[in-house]
Amino acid sequence: MPIRLWCALALLLLAQAVSAEDIPDSVLKAGDASITIQYSSKVSDDFRKLVEGWVRDAADAVITVYRKYPVERVTIEVRVANGGRVGGGMTFDGRLIKVRVGSETTREAFCSDWVMTHEMFHLGFPDTDRTANWIGEGLSTYMEPLARARAGQLSAEEVWGSMIDGFPKGLPAAGDEGLDHTPTWGRTYWGGALFWLLADVEIRRQTNGRKSLDDALRAIVAEGGTGSSHWPEAKIFRRADAAIGKPILEKLDERLGAHPEKTDLAALWQQLGVSQNGRAILFNDSAPWAGIRRALTHG
Ligand SMILES: [Zn+2]
Repeated sequence: MPIRLWCALALLLLAQAVSAEDIPDSVLKAGDASITIQYSSKVSDDFRKLVEGWVRDAADAVITVYRKYPVERVTIEVRVANGGRVGGGMTFDGRLIKVRVGSETTREAFCSDWVMTHEMFHLGFPDTDRTANWIGEGLSTYMEPLARARAGQLSAEEVWGSMIDGFPKGLPAAGDEGLDHTPTWGRTYWGGALFWLLADVEIRRQTNGRKSLDDALRAIVAEGGTGSSHWPEAKIFRRADAAIGKPILEKLDERLGAHPEKTDLAALWQQLGVSQNGRAILFNDSAPWAGIRRALTHG
């Protein structure tokens, strides 16, 4: 390569290095917690404001469950990409969320996104054994729409519409084993989410609404069970049950973790008083568990 080209290349690399350092972070407060957003390339003020609003909404949603932000600080690396949508996200060690975001993403697209809230729930829950991935992924899948509804970001109809649509994907197919031994996408995310719905309903039933899954999750975080920690499956359920005062999670895990139990979803929806007619979601307030259904989306 001619020397002049080398110089041009060196200058270009230098310019990039300088500009990366020039991109200011966004720093948000969520209660006592600090959220730092880093951008992979220069962004407009409008885009920066949209990203900040999106992250703040997700933090508000998570706080409806934990009553505070579940970790003291987190860094969110926004990889700015082409296009107008939020791409995949990933959480690392309870301190870092990486996410791809299209530079043309609109306010509406940010408002309908679930990725950021899903990832933030990973911050407040221990890492588990590989065979138990369904526990954490299921929890994020289950809590994300409920938390957004509680924060006024989703309607109850949207929440139950997504659940009626999603949960059949989590049921065991022919040849599947329990959740611990069938790490497919459907069983991991939706099968795991169904586990947590069944747990939450059972906790609320057995305590006459005095306790909920929220109490168990807060107890786990209070004991250091954030994404920076590694807890075996048994410890998570034992700690959750201790917070509730009943062995609900351990018993449910014995059933669904080890065996391909097929939940009767039609019966569950009927008990909760929710049904689908075409695209419309209908609620029956005289159903036996209608109070539980309402509490799930209202906190
Ligand atoms: Zn996840």
